[in-house]
Amino acid sequence: MAPAESHRAALSFPSGNAKTGPIAVSSTSRLTCPSSCSLAGDQGCYAEAGFRTRLHWDRLSAGRLGSTAAAFIQQVAALPAGVMFRHCVAGDQWPDPADPLRIDQALLLKLARATRHLRAAWSYTHFPMGPANQATLRQASERGLVVNASTESRSVAAGLQRQGIPAVCVLPPDAPAVFRHEGVRFVACPATRPGSQVQCSSCGGRWGLPLCAQAGRSFVVTFPAHGARAAAAARHCS
Ligand code: SF4
Repeated sequence: MAPAESHRAALSFPSGNAKTGPIAVSSTSRLTCPSSCSLAGDQGCYAEAGFRTRLHWDRLSAGRLGSTAAAFIQQVAALPAGVMFRHCVAGDQWPDPADPLRIDQALLLKLARATRHLRAAWSYTHFPMGPANQATLRQASERGLVVNASTESRSVAAGLQRQGIPAVCVLPPDAPAVFRHEGVRFVACPATRPGSQVQCSSCGGRWGLPLCAQAGRSFVVTFPAHGARAAAAARHCS
């Protein structure tokens, strides 16, 4: 089946985003966002709250910038060797045209293969983590693209992490930076700590990998609810 128009994506390198640093970043159309995302719209989505990110996302979602999935994957393959790539700063993974709650496995694995020459490649998803989507994430990770399961529940995140699925979790702003829940360690994104100079480009140290790109990590990465919709996002945390 042909990829849908929702598969439109835009690549930017080097990024001017202060949080990521000068790595390669991308967004996918708002139409990729699954109905399973509890933060969608005004419920706490940070991409909707950030003025510049939302303007860019609006234009991409309306088809006024970006490219088809096939062209986008070629652009990723042409990135210089050794750079880092954060996929889906806004938007989600490409949905299977036959099932809107299933990640398009073939397309994601094509993208993963196109990242093999990069130093690190990672992304996030709010797709439901049933067996099919978990299998897709494992296969993408084996090919070099680590897709983190995005959650707002400590218990869900801990369960996924125990099953070997890298997870991230949005928490209320007053949550501790490091703690354990149900036997799993939770560690705050270093860029979110007060006074931090860390960006994704420097996360993990000079020789390490950014935390979100570590496929075999033993901990959940946490993000405090922040921005204009922090209160809405915090209401979904458990
Ligand atoms: S944990 Fe590291 S890689 Fe992940 S968002 Fe924070 S700075 Fe970026």
